[in-house]
Amino acid sequence: MYLVGAGPGDPDLLTLRALALLQRAEVALYDNLISPAILALLPPAAERIYVGKRRADHAMRQEAINALLVEHARAGKRVVRLKGGDPFVFGRGGEEIDTLSAHGIRFEVVPGITAALGAAAYAGIPLTHRDHAQACVFVTGNLKDGSVDLDWVALARPRQTIVVYMGLLSLPVICRELVAHGLPRDTGAAVIQQGTTATQRVIAGTLRTLPAKVARAKLHAPTLIIVGNVVRLRAKLSWFEPKSKRGEAS
Ligand code: SAH
Repeated sequence: MYLVGAGPGDPDLLTLRALALLQRAEVALYDNLISPAILALLPPAAERIYVGKRRADHAMRQEAINALLVEHARAGKRVVRLKGGDPFVFGRGGEEIDTLSAHGIRFEVVPGITAALGAAAYAGIPLTHRDHAQACVFVTGNLKDGSVDLDWVALARPRQTIVVYMGLLSLPVICRELVAHGLPRDTGAAVIQQGTTATQRVIAGTLRTLPAKVARAKLHAPTLIIVGNVVRLRAKLSWFEPKSKRGEAS
């Protein structure tokens, strides 16, 4: 069983190890984050199993996915479990191999380029920079009972970059709380839609302006939020030109 990080979208960002395993796979389990261009690298005869899940029924479905992994691995097939980005960054990779380990099934983990690194590079936003940010933190903006449970005091420290995964719905709360805990309102902030792909869009602004800009932009998942003054560097460092630059507001 191979738990493989498939990177943020652009197939050119797969590792050589991921590509080799994809090309030899007999069964591939994948979800929403895996692009068709990456699935196209599987052998035509490989069995493709979609195990996508929606927000509400996460817990139940994860058990079903774990059971499927065990079932296919036990059948003696070469199974590749594809994960968007890196399997150990907000990917539940740990839970999946925990189940395999409990069943005595051997596995290998292949790291991938996580969304923060891919989307930042393709948006022209260096996550650290000697003049602006000496630290970078990755957090999840997932709502728990309708509120975001984050350490705002730690996040609002100066001279660091914050990358929020799964945070689009919480964007207004995140911007408000960071300002309430001391970050200047004019701190740079951006949302990147479908980073590294042909449909990448970047909406950039400040903690004050971003929520309204994003509300008007009608973005599609997946999206990533980056907060910090490194976002301003994009004005000079942006290089990637996706096919659809429709409505870009930065
Ligand atoms: N293991 C993955 C993250 C899974 S959580 C990784 O390492 O990247 C899913 C979240 O990742 C999405 O809600 C979104 O915030 C982010 N994400 C994944 N791919 C993305 C992309 N191409 N562009 C922007 N955000 C992305």
